[in-house]
Amino acid sequence: MDPYPPYPSGLRLAGRRVLMVGGGHVAQRRVPALLASGALVTVVSPDATPAIEALADAGEISWQRRRFEDGDLDGVWYVVAATDDHTANEAVSAAAEERRIFCVRADDAAAASAWTPAVGRSSGVTVAILSNELGNRDPRRSAAVRDEILEGLREGTIAAPHHRDRTPGVVLVGGGPGDPELMSVAGRKALMEADVVVADRLAPRELLGDLPSTTELVDVAKVPRGRFTAQEAINDLIVARAREGKRVVRFKGGDSFVFGRGFEEVLACREAGVPVTVIPGLTSPVAVPALAGIPVTHRGVAHDFTVLSGHLPPDHPGSLVDWEAVARLTGTLLLMMAVENAAAIAEVLVKGGRPPETPVAVVCDGSMPAERTVFATLGTLGEAAEVNAVRAPAIIVVGEVVRIAYPDSYRWSNSIPSVVEPFETPRPSVSQEPPPRGTSGVSTPGDAP
Ligand code: SAH
Repeated sequence: MDPYPPYPSGLRLAGRRVLMVGGGHVAQRRVPALLASGALVTVVSPDATPAIEALADAGEISWQRRRFEDGDLDGVWYVVAATDDHTANEAVSAAAEERRIFCVRADDAAAASAWTPAVGRSSGVTVAILSNELGNRDPRRSAAVRDEILEGLREGTIAAPHHRDRTPGVVLVGGGPGDPELMSVAGRKALMEADVVVADRLAPRELLGDLPSTTELVDVAKVPRGRFTAQEAINDLIVARAREGKRVVRFKGGDSFVFGRGFEEVLACREAGVPVTVIPGLTSPVAVPALAGIPVTHRGVAHDFTVLSGHLPPDHPGSLVDWEAVARLTGTLLLMMAVENAAAIAEVLVKGGRPPETPVAVVCDGSMPAERTVFATLGTLGEAAEVNAVRAPAIIVVGEVVRIAYPDSYRWSNSIPSVVEPFETPRPSVSQEPPPRGTSGVSTPGDAP
């Protein structure tokens, strides 16, 4: 057994030729990383997976549709023998050895002159993990160690303070629907690197507890009909802090540009000459129905979905929504900030032609511990919302996709709405089965829950 551990080295492959012999799943996994480091990749293989073929069609790699020949190593710096044929890999490896070109073997690490580490990147560093000994080579362990290090770097539990992004400016971070697990990696990193975090009520607040004690936290909770922090004051605050040389994160629920007034902040920063960037978030009108098991589109059922703000009643002079036109749509409607005006909106939709038996689901507190769904129809929505004491935040989903997701709730569609029990949400809910929760607002006794 080889008593020596591998000698790690960061190969700088930009503009250098790399040969991949084999066009199967190993090649498919390795080629993107080689391309990301700027290597000029040639794949030699009679066949290839569709992904490899697509890279060749796009001109990102060159693909020689034949078996390996020794001449393929001309001008090559690094080679990966990744065919499913041991003899073929051996031939590649022998030819490479003769020319002193390092060669990775997909089939036989002991026979290879180079090993591929488990690799990941975060906070300006590349993490590469290799097992020390051949006999003990356990790729899953290496991958697990890598993942832990990456997680530590992302979450700031492994401090890399000297490499934190210190450029002053404002980053708008969309926090997703509320569950911290549903926030982007980039958003989390920006949050942990901030000097100042200016957070909204709907941002995933659990994450604020993880902030370093040195981070200044500003709460601009906008409680509906309660205390208001004027948008101008927020704009002034983020601009002022950035001008002090600080890195400011403006932390919001969902996506900053979906009814989040994010672009007003972008404009304020631009006007003040403060650098501003945006990290998108999972927006609630798409994410919250998904968590409740409701798709916003479905083949043969809904070819469009429309996201609408219902914060103004339909007859309000300030409303920018053409509700008559909306009523003529046949796809999915996703109503936000619409709890107060739900009955009036349902009425105008029915008046405009949408059938009163159109299924409706009201998903409250999506991704939060109190998540629950109330079912109704356009005809019963007002009553169902009242009986079930529906409160913001909620997404009201209107359309046949609701029936597709919860067919049992719509067998009898004209009965009186019943009280819906709150239910536990398995988080994050990606189950394809309708979760056993949220009884129907239109169900009759005897329906499945
Ligand atoms: N920028 C946010 C939306 C802000 S407007 C986004 O992209 O999601 C606030 C409205 O969003 C709420 O009234 C509600 O309709 C919806 N909303 C946000 N988070 C929600 C959640 N977790 N569950 C249900 N609705 C939510």
